[in-house]
Order: sequence, then C-alpha cells, then structure tokens
Amino acid sequence: MSGRLTVVGLGPGDARYLTPEADTALKDAEVLYGYARYLERIPSRAGQRHHPSDNREERTRAVAALQAAAEGARVAIVSGGDPGVFAMAAAVCEEIAQGPESFRALDVTIVPGVTAMLAVAARAGAPLGHDFCALSLSDNLKPWDLIERRLDAAAGAGFVVALYNPMSQSRPWQFARAMERLARLLPPATPVVVGRAVGREDETVTVTTIDRAAAEHADMATLVIVGSRDTRLVQRPGRTPLVYTPRAVAEVSA
Ligand code: SAH
Repeated sequence: MSGRLTVVGLGPGDARYLTPEADTALKDAEVLYGYARYLERIPSRAGQRHHPSDNREERTRAVAALQAAAEGARVAIVSGGDPGVFAMAAAVCEEIAQGPESFRALDVTIVPGVTAMLAVAARAGAPLGHDFCALSLSDNLKPWDLIERRLDAAAGAGFVVALYNPMSQSRPWQFARAMERLARLLPPATPVVVGRAVGREDETVTVTTIDRAAAEHADMATLVIVGSRDTRLVQRPGRTPLVYTPRAVAEVSA
C-alpha cells in the first residue's frame, strides 16, 4: 500500500499565510479531511474529495483519515494555524497510539503552519520577545481547576501567556475568570493584546490592560496575549503603540 497521511497547517487566515510546503501537500492529496470552515478555504481541485466535519469531531475525523490512508489513499487532514498547537496532529497521534497496527505502518508527515499566537504577536509588536507559554482555556479536555493553577504558575514565574480558546458559546465565563485570576498576580496596567480573526477580512487587534481586558469581546476566533511584568508599550506619534517584551531581564521580576 502506498497510502500516506499529511497533517497540514493552513495558518491563521487567508492564503497569504499558507506556506509553499502546505500548498504542495494540499495539491498532492486525493482526499482531504477537516473542519468544514477550514476546508472551505481550500479551492476544490479536479479529482479531489473533501470530507468536511464539525469542529468537535476531531477524533472521528482522525480515525476516518487514518483508515483512508491505510487503504492506500493519499490523505491530507487540515488544521487552522499550526496542526501541532491544540489541533489535529495530536489527535492523529492519539489514534495511531491506540489504533490497529496498520496505523503505525503509515507514512505520516506533519506540515507546520503559522499559529494564531505568532500572527497576533506580530500585529502588536514583539510581546513574545522573552520567555512565554501558551495555554488553552478550554475546559472540555481538562478540569478548570488545573487551568487556574497553570495560570497562577505562568504569571507567577514571569511568563508572557498566550491564551487559546478563551471563550465560546458553550464556555461563556472562562475568559473573564482567567483575567481575574491573572490580575491577582500582575500589576493592573500589564499590557494585554486581544486579536480576533487575525489574517482574515474582519480582523481586529486591541491593546488593553489586565484590569480592563475582561470587557473586551472575545469569541472562538480570538487569541489573547497577556504580558509579564516586563512587557511594555512604546508610544508613537500618529501610530498605534508597539507592545514588546524586552529580550533581557535584569533581575528577578516575578
Ligand atoms: N491550531 C490552531 C489553534 C486551534 S485552537 C493554531 O495553531 O492557531 C483554536 C483557537 O485558536 C481559537 O479559539 C483562537 O484562540 C485561536 N485562533 C485560531 N485562528 C485565529 C485567528 N485567525 N485569530 C485569532 N485567534 C485565532
């Protein structure tokens, strides 16, 4: 069998963010699997089949893609941003780990993409210029209590924190609660960048502070970067301020 599975990162928005490697992988596939809204971004090509699914069906999608590859097809499974960041590459690895022997024999390639955190950071300046970490605020796959402990640990250790999945219709309070939690450990004026639909037509990027951030509109397409004690703003005449975290830390600041 010559089947293979490629897990492809599409980047945060439109085709400008697709890497040449990802573009080639998409063109080469016979069958494509992914969340319907991501598959819509990819032009249909003659002879290719698209299998859209709901965004919560990651597990069934991974199994279906692996089975198609095991039967000999050239399969691509797509993720927004980078497929290894809170996305399909881990779901595929989980299914390979617990699936039949034929899954472990497959040729599997992961093609990286520009993750939302990097796209939002680039809009604001250089908030990730020094040590940072990324957390998902979704408590679908882990308890909220653990999220709070990780927020405390991250802010307490002086990391800039990038927050994925801050809020959705089924998780309406998580974002405000996380801001409250971080505000206990950080000065009220700590810069916060809220980036929505970055790289898409309806993109918005707002710079605020930790004591006001909870009032910002956040949804499933929003990524939030909370600064550390070292993160600062450069005010510029006639331009939006640059948010940056200096590369050097002179003394223990957290
Ligand atoms: N694999 C994706 C992340 C999937 S988790 C990546 O690497 O970017 C989904 C979360 O990613 C969203 O809730 C949001 O926090 C973030 N996200 C994805 N696309 C985004 C965009 N264009 N602008 C801002 N945030 C985005």
